Amino acid sequence: MRIIKSVSVMQKYILGLKSKNKRIGFVPTMGYLHKGHGALLRRCRKENNISVLSIFVNPKQFGPNEDFHRYPRDLKKDELFAQREKVDIIFYPSADDMYPKDYLTYVEVGKIAQGLCGKFRPGHFRGVATVVGKLINVIQPDILYLGQKDAQQAAILKRMIVDLNFPVRVKIVPTVREQDGLAMSSRNSYLNDKQRQQAPILYRTLRHAEGLIQQGQRNPRKIIGQMRAMILKAAPFKIDYIECVDAASLDPLKVLRGDILIALAAWLGKTRLIDNIVLTVK
Ligand code: AMP
Repeated sequence: MRIIKSVSVMQKYILGLKSKNKRIGFVPTMGYLHKGHGALLRRCRKENNISVLSIFVNPKQFGPNEDFHRYPRDLKKDELFAQREKVDIIFYPSADDMYPKDYLTYVEVGKIAQGLCGKFRPGHFRGVATVVGKLINVIQPDILYLGQKDAQQAAILKRMIVDLNFPVRVKIVPTVREQDGLAMSSRNSYLNDKQRQQAPILYRTLRHAEGLIQQGQRNPRKIIGQMRAMILKAAPFKIDYIECVDAASLDPLKVLRGDILIALAAWLGKTRLIDNIVLTVK
């Protein structure tokens, strides 16, 4: 396994691989790796000749009052994790190399980035689209692997890739969960013991919503009302949103039909948790 810390070295190395017709798979992350990242890496390993993992806590996707400085980092542990997953290359650039002093260019995806988390984290998806666009240009992967856990991010990046003609395919990997249902996330390390016990209610309410739909409920307002009540009864969450939207366009739905995404974001203390499920409703 090779660790490359410079953009220009990475570009040169990739050109060599491309000239040998290697199929390159790419998993972008912010590190502090867990089994969710592991699922993406395993899929990437299996489907490509070369698997590239990037670890970059992207300053451009954090708001001024968000957790950029606090975000957990542990390169040594991540290296061991990546080695076990048979990653070929870790790309670990510095912020100065990615965004030199004279940096000016951003990728802005339209309305799909404005609802859900976009409403609560202004500029976040602009930062995400910009960094992933840059990483795709540097790594030139054949396939990009993204997690369903970050459903809006995946939808936005898919849109960007089509709209800007990036020559890359996208594969979405299902959310990996703890045994009690909590979606794995680097940010779960912020939770204290009590909060860690309370957090799985989010996934339980998503499953409850699924049950209501199976029983014939098609009115999102009724479903969201029940979910909200369940969450607030269980613990002192501060809910940013609970929404039922079209799974591709992320447009809010008045009646549940077709491929739908039920997504939520809520704060438990100083930790913002997100989760979602995708369902096909007849
Ligand atoms: P992050 O390091 O949190 O930015 O995540 C990097 C990639 O891993 C993104 O595509 C995430 O959607 C994906 N990911 C994070 N957590 C999970 C999870 N629990 N299950 C599946 N994919 C995940």
